Amino acid sequence: MKQLSLKNLDLKNKRVLLRVDFNVPLKEDGTIADDSRIRAALPTINYILDQGATLTIMSHLGRPKGEPDPKFSLKPCAKRLSELLRKEVSMDRGKIVMLENLRFHKAEKDPDSDPSFAKELASHGEIFINDAFGAAHRNHSSIVPICHYFPGKCAAGFLMEKEIDNLTPLVENPERPFSAILGGAKIDTKFAILHALQPRVDHLFVGGGMIFSLMKAMGLSIGNSIYDPTHLELASEFLDEAPNLVLPEDIVIANQFSNGAEVKTVRLKEGVPDGWQGMDIGPKTVAKWQPILEESHTIFWNGPMGVFEFPEFAKGTESLAKLLAEMRSIRVVGGGDSISAISKLNLNEKFTHISTGGGASLEFLEKGTLPGIDALSENI
Ligand code: AMP
Repeated sequence: MKQLSLKNLDLKNKRVLLRVDFNVPLKEDGTIADDSRIRAALPTINYILDQGATLTIMSHLGRPKGEPDPKFSLKPCAKRLSELLRKEVSMDRGKIVMLENLRFHKAEKDPDSDPSFAKELASHGEIFINDAFGAAHRNHSSIVPICHYFPGKCAAGFLMEKEIDNLTPLVENPERPFSAILGGAKIDTKFAILHALQPRVDHLFVGGGMIFSLMKAMGLSIGNSIYDPTHLELASEFLDEAPNLVLPEDIVIANQFSNGAEVKTVRLKEGVPDGWQGMDIGPKTVAKWQPILEESHTIFWNGPMGVFEFPEFAKGTESLAKLLAEMRSIRVVGGGDSISAISKLNLNEKFTHISTGGGASLEFLEKGTLPGIDALSENI
């Protein structure tokens, strides 16, 4: 059963409780470095207010340790939202109220430790709207248990719906050929998605630090490159069963993990010599991937192709972003790092959909749904 939409509910004169993902990056001085996540919730917030409802907004921010920590206060977000709406947003009472960081309470992340927390949150509204796609893969109090208090009165916000509408076709009926490109470093968390996607895609491209676990499993030397020894057996089974796997052709290696290091490019088949480490995919890789990607009708991309935080090793990620930006196929990107590379190049508008959830978009692709979406559907 599909979850309700915001538009299915009568909000006039109602008290609406809204879960958003205002987990914004903060600068050293505590101010907001990028307010995209706040802006992304504006269509839902404006709609709710236009319907004549009063609004209580709740979110998490950062990783406080289950108790109040001023470093992670949502006050800067309330202030920014107030500027964007040109309306007062109070942390106390009024027409638009923002609750303090949900993760100041241990029970947010661990609902079983105190089920009354979800109930207490629920007392702030007669209707519950979840627009926090980026947190919908978590079984947290404000995401899953809370829905039980709103039978027939909980729904997805516009951002959540947009994510579901754009990601569902990739799971159910992608236009083929369908290619997925996965990068990043954490092979332990990404192995499940590699496994889940491999039989469903026509081509599975792998870049980033994950390559070296695969190279090691192939018996190639990897020098000092990162790899996960606990996944070697899985990596080698995966190589046997994944004929559609496309690995890099060449790799940029460095003699140190730093920007000013000595750098050279080697063929993947040569391996990485001792004393060197793999930092990025090389130019021959992008050239080899290009024709296969150009033939694809759907492309999903998550994760950087190299240590893109160092400009020297951002070239692989950036050339991939530029290549994908020029295509006409359905191109969906998830994950903070790939998105920041795209934003830096001002290419956001060129993509079909940029997901606001990294982990959430991967889990949605793997399972076709998320706990927070199921909780809404089960309580319609
Ligand atoms: P993830 O969170 O798994 O998507 O990983 C993102 C991180 O992977 C970024 O911080 C990159 O710097 C890192 N990364 C990508 N390629 C490499 C590499 N070859 N060696 C080390 N780290 C890498």
